[in-house]
Amino acid sequence: MIEKTLIIIKPDAINRGLLGEIVQRFERKGLKIVAMKMMHLHDKLLEEHYPHIKDKPFFPGVKKFMQASPTVVLVLEGFEAVEVVRLMCGPTKASIAPAGTIRGDYALSVQSNVVHASDSKETAKKEIKRFFKEDEILNYEKIDYELILAPDERR
Ligand code: ADP
Repeated sequence: MIEKTLIIIKPDAINRGLLGEIVQRFERKGLKIVAMKMMHLHDKLLEEHYPHIKDKPFFPGVKKFMQASPTVVLVLEGFEAVEVVRLMCGPTKASIAPAGTIRGDYALSVQSNVVHASDSKETAKKEIKRFFKEDEILNYEKIDYELILAPDERR
């Protein structure tokens, strides 16, 4: 099944200049970027996004961390994208995330763990709607050389 999933590249990754490397991993896997923007996550958005941890004692810390800088929010599309991307990110607690996963390779903390990825198909649908308007999600195909090359270069 071709699915869409929501990714947030968190402030620690932006701050450490890891945006390109992380996005590149998704591209190399074969996932297609169908939406992408830089966003500051305000209080209401974070409370809606994290209802399951809203009442935890660590939530104020998570909020501060997630607001420390803008984030980059993406929608990725591909075969079984929700599960594939979760596996690529690794477990929440980055200190025990296996090498080869994004959290395993770039993070140490349970709080600043460089990426968010939707945890189920249902959550993905809700999260994509929360962060993107319908017309911000783009439907496009690979372009061919006819369009890439200038007329003189095509001869
Ligand atoms: P995931 O992001 O892997 O889906 P959760 O939904 O459980 O994990 O948690 C959301 C985010 O809250 C985590 O990615 C992390 O940034 C933060 N978090 C989770 N647990 C803790 C904790 N015990 N202490 C501090 N921050 C936490």
